[in-house]
Amino acid sequence: MIRLDKYLADMGVGTRSEVKNFIRRGMVTVDGAAASRPEQKIQPERQTVMVNGSQVCYVEFEYYMLNKPAGVVSAVTDTREKTVLDLLTGKKRKDLFPVGRLDKDTEGLLLITNDGELSHRLLSPSKHVDKTYFARIQGRATADDIRAFSEGIDIGDEKPALPAVLKILKTGDTSEVEITIQEGRFHQVKRMFEAVGKKVIYLKRLSMGSVVLDETLPPGGYRELTKEELERLC
Ligand code: URA
Repeated sequence: MIRLDKYLADMGVGTRSEVKNFIRRGMVTVDGAAASRPEQKIQPERQTVMVNGSQVCYVEFEYYMLNKPAGVVSAVTDTREKTVLDLLTGKKRKDLFPVGRLDKDTEGLLLITNDGELSHRLLSPSKHVDKTYFARIQGRATADDIRAFSEGIDIGDEKPALPAVLKILKTGDTSEVEITIQEGRFHQVKRMFEAVGKKVIYLKRLSMGSVVLDETLPPGGYRELTKEELERLC
């Protein structure tokens, strides 16, 4: 059961005070009868709510995978920058947020939801959820880097980074690697390479826990998680 004004506000019909106004002005019906009380309790799975004759369906949780493009910030709102939420034009709920952050210039997998518990489980440092990135770096990636990362490298924080797995895909003046880390510290991958004297020039997240970026999504593209993806996460 959910209050009618919360039902409508959650689904982005308006702010809480705007929807109260809509209700008082007779614009809202519940099962065909005009509603007059914002506090009226609704059973979303059983009742039909309409605003100005258009049905408003209630969705409790939404789960999206976004292929984040470079140039947008991992925030809900920003006064100057375009945010990842601005890219989700088809969203239903208005309380979505990104699960963690990618730097403005980082691309790739970003989960977006309003499920706080799931987000907490994925981000909690004690859970050690693996995140795999593709990185292009300036300089030659070496076996010494693989060893240093696997031992847990000092990146200037109180504690060294937890052991990470580095896979070298291509080495040369510019190298290409895949790196799997267990944490999500600020600029972590960039700082790990800095610690071995190399600069990350391109970074893209490929997976987070069991969710793998759908490579058919163009940068800026998104889709809902499938039932299977969601079941594996929960
Ligand atoms: N590590 C970084 O340095 N940047 C990111 O965006 C993600 C991981």
